[in-house]
Amino acid sequence: MVDLLIPALDALPAGVQVFMRDDDAGWEDARLLALLDVTQRAGVPIDLAAIPAAIGPALAAELRARIDAAPDLVAVHQHGFTHGNHEAAGRKSEFGAARDAAAQRKDIALGRALLEDWLGARVQPWFTPPWNRCSAALPGVLAGLGFEALSRDRSAQPAQSALPELPVDVDWSRHWREGGAAAVASALVQALRARAADGAPLGLMLHHGAMAREELDCLAGLLAAVARHPRLNWRGMRALLSSLAPCEFHCAPAV
Ligand SMILES: [Zn+2]
Repeated sequence: MVDLLIPALDALPAGVQVFMRDDDAGWEDARLLALLDVTQRAGVPIDLAAIPAAIGPALAAELRARIDAAPDLVAVHQHGFTHGNHEAAGRKSEFGAARDAAAQRKDIALGRALLEDWLGARVQPWFTPPWNRCSAALPGVLAGLGFEALSRDRSAQPAQSALPELPVDVDWSRHWREGGAAAVASALVQALRARAADGAPLGLMLHHGAMAREELDCLAGLLAAVARHPRLNWRGMRALLSSLAPCEFHCAPAV
């Protein structure tokens, strides 16, 4: 993986800002903590998308301690409510077209309150919808509840949104399933070239629950090799969202 990435990074025409978003905090706690050990050791920030209804007291205490000890390296935001599917047919979604805005608003507010009960003011005001997709109404619902940004897959992002968006580009687990480390590396190279060209941040999505030891070791090796590469600027979502101009979110262009 590193053999492919380093020459590609060296050849990039411009630097790229990168963030890592790990989904489904609340499931597979041991694997989540192993991932946090890897990213914190590498000194690279990670944003956890946490399922409010799945978090328990032990994980909450661990997350509070890690955030307080390293607030620039570990952050948490909301990932749905229960991570349940409400669509009767078609692709799974917790906040898809099957339910109206009022039902969505109720679940998100409940989830938000639950997450704040566990983590207090440490919860970041962004939202990642389960399965990376949501109805067209959801950005407006989130904005009405005080959320400040939305993160989903770049391909799911509409031309206009009621909220700034910080999409992910590379789904580590999907590429790993398809072709292991080589497939992940190839997807990263492709995304790095695209983001170096358009200047938008690159989002790398992880699912710690799917990462066996071999996969985690591969990520650790990658971070050790490229965490300080001059063409990469690893940043947390909070730093990116506070520093980018609105036009860089790829939401509606200002007129
Ligand atoms: Zn998820």
